[in-house]
Amino acid sequence: MNNTYSCPNCKGFLLIENRLILTACKEGEQLNEKGFVLLMYPEIGNYETKYHEKVEVTEGEKYQFYCPICHHKLHSDINDNLVMVNYNDQKGKAFELHFSRIAGQKSTYKIMGRSVETFGIDAPHYLDFMHLMDMS
Ligand SMILES: [Zn+2]
Repeated sequence: MNNTYSCPNCKGFLLIENRLILTACKEGEQLNEKGFVLLMYPEIGNYETKYHEKVEVTEGEKYQFYCPICHHKLHSDINDNLVMVNYNDQKGKAFELHFSRIAGQKSTYKIMGRSVETFGIDAPHYLDFMHLMDMS
């Protein structure tokens, strides 16, 4: 069984050909006017992203992420600067994967119940908000 990523709203699968596919736009802009497709790597902690060469992503700017299927605004209940997708590991265990929506910020949290595994050099930045147990 492979890892799966799915939308918390429509449960649609977001991982195809080893790329996580999302749509995004800069905070305050409209997805249907300025939105773009974004490819991410499914390995947690790999922050490389791919998007069309005409798209400009600015480090430090906040982006809004959407499900490409149902256009649900992906958001995290933990912090306004994070987004969340559902993640199932190879054993089928279900986690919430929260990551930063600020371009260039490397912080990811793999959460199940009250335990969290953190990834990325900026991870401590949001850990205070979580009141969870760091298991990493
Ligand atoms: Zn969806």
